Amino acid sequence: MSQNELLQNRVAEIFYELRDETKLIGYDRVLFPKPGLKNIASHVFEKKIFYDPVISTWPADEIIFCLLHEEGHIVKGHDGRFLTFLLAIIGIMFIAVGIIIVLFFSVLNLSLLLISWGIFSSIFCIRLSSKPLEMDEFASDEYAAEIMKQKMKILKPSAIISNALRRLHELNVTSDGSKNQQGNFLHLLKVSLFEDYYPTDQQRIANIQYQFDTQ
Ligand SMILES: [Zn+2]
Repeated sequence: MSQNELLQNRVAEIFYELRDETKLIGYDRVLFPKPGLKNIASHVFEKKIFYDPVISTWPADEIIFCLLHEEGHIVKGHDGRFLTFLLAIIGIMFIAVGIIIVLFFSVLNLSLLLISWGIFSSIFCIRLSSKPLEMDEFASDEYAAEIMKQKMKILKPSAIISNALRRLHELNVTSDGSKNQQGNFLHLLKVSLFEDYYPTDQQRIANIQYQFDTQ
């Protein structure tokens, strides 16, 4: 599929409608297809939304939820990941200085001290900022649910969110039920550092059900 065809798909159609017609997405947001992403994601500073074209087969209301969730991250300026990596870089610098010292000056003790401190501080910084990342997910869900309820008159936003989350999981899980990216070192690192702070689908659905569904 060419870039042009990808841009003309359903996700793009819905995105442009939300941005240019109903104005539920900011006028300066830009959409990018990213085959293989198996997800939808945003770059908060650059106001970009990335999506895997496979989601274009989804029902429109679920695509709308995903786009509004990412818009929520942009509107609320969720820069948690950026800050996390900035903090982790300080730790990585200690590791780098430790390596330089052992290689060029052969001072093993000092180098081991710096490397240990670097590993400790980068893990600590990432874990410390994982809680705000969890809050960001809830806040973006709430942003999307609020719009779906007020502007689109959807009575039970949690039902749409529930379906969208299930579909996202299906994308990331192979037929034998194991994660596609299993074994990938970076993925394992990410899971061990972040995943337990990422809210579960049940928590996200319950939060929206409680706050937004019309009983
Ligand atoms: Zn999110």
